[in-house]
Amino acid sequence: MSDVARHDAATPVLGRLAEIHPRLEALYKDLHTHPELSFAETRTAGVVADELGRLGFQVTTGVGGTGVVGVLANGEGPRVLLRADFDALPVREQTGLDYASTATGTDPDGKHVPVMHACGHDMHVACLLGALDLLAGSPESWSGTLVAVFQPAEELGSGAQAMVDDGLFAKAGTPDIVLGQHVAPVPAGTIACHPGPTMAATDALRVRMFGRGAHGSRPESAIDPVVMAAATVMRLQTVVAREIAGGDTAVVTVGALNAGTKDNVIPDEAELKVNIRTYTPEVRATVLDAVTRIVNAEAAASGAERDPEITALEAFPVMVNDPAAVERTTAALRAHFGEQAVVDLGPATGSEDCGILATASGARLCYWYFGGTDPAAFETALKNGTMGRDIPSNHSPRFAPLIDPTLDVGVQAMTVAALAWLHAPSSPPATGRRSSA
Ligand code: ZN
Ligand code: ZN
Repeated sequence: MSDVARHDAATPVLGRLAEIHPRLEALYKDLHTHPELSFAETRTAGVVADELGRLGFQVTTGVGGTGVVGVLANGEGPRVLLRADFDALPVREQTGLDYASTATGTDPDGKHVPVMHACGHDMHVACLLGALDLLAGSPESWSGTLVAVFQPAEELGSGAQAMVDDGLFAKAGTPDIVLGQHVAPVPAGTIACHPGPTMAATDALRVRMFGRGAHGSRPESAIDPVVMAAATVMRLQTVVAREIAGGDTAVVTVGALNAGTKDNVIPDEAELKVNIRTYTPEVRATVLDAVTRIVNAEAAASGAERDPEITALEAFPVMVNDPAAVERTTAALRAHFGEQAVVDLGPATGSEDCGILATASGARLCYWYFGGTDPAAFETALKNGTMGRDIPSNHSPRFAPLIDPTLDVGVQAMTVAALAWLHAPSSPPATGRRSSA
């Protein structure tokens, strides 16, 4: 709770938060110490399933691989889907926390890698379980059906789709609203929510460019894929600068460029990995067309005898928040946290697959961020212009959400948002907004 005590519709339900906090904090630290890679979240799924069972939810495990679904029916009313993702990343933790991870795992290429909850998905799980505990403990305060979705493999962009393909909605019913949240490097206590396109579409591509290998001393007998790839990387930087309108947004990053083994050997081929972020189908098509055209043209310019290969890797659709759903949810969040605590920071260039749960079911989506950074450290970094250096963001090996108050804020936000959509027990089954208590 903030130091200003507020009374809103959620107050009676949130009464037990202080009581359950120690258990939640222990659960969060346990998850943080034991992170698991995408689609390998078996221990995490077990912890979640045990908790859901303890809270009286009807539990289904193994949905879309390692996903877990809990359903709690409590009378007439909307079906409200609350989602947390629970996979970790191949990152070696450098937070220095006493509950830091030393875990390892095997990545999809069979490589042994360190594993860390560097995106905060452990926080999402703890916050959602806390909200479910509070809601399940106050059935007299709401009516409707809670659907809790604990999703694998968000980091691959395929976990939500895997759960949908595995019959998520046949098992758990079709939701009226999908609610999700992500911890972010903004001051703890702040909640950010943006209507409309709120997270970018991602297209990841692998590009193979083919030359002709030869001795490094004999360029006349080679077609050099290193020069071909280098020219391609530079020309790709013109896509956003020269082909996208000033008012539109796109990002084109070449995150990997691999070719060759030795100074005096001109290799046969080069590989690029390209990551593209866009917010509209039109801009996405323009960027993908431009990348394809440039890759092929640079190969031709080098005199390549074989066309390049472009393979799509992971893809995320743009995530679109329903404006009316944002209005209703943020009104409840403002009533609880105060006007200043709930802000609109605009769309993010990150990507998320939570939106698939809404588009696949026809439900509306409201997805928001909650701060995990020490407000004093944030303030100092902002003043000194050292935000990039001093405030670790998601996926950093130093990403470490401040447990207090981030955990309680995340629990409260999810609880308050759920109550904004569930019916009050005595209210008629109309779709109108709940009156505040
Ligand atoms: Zn992430
Ligand atoms: Zn994440």
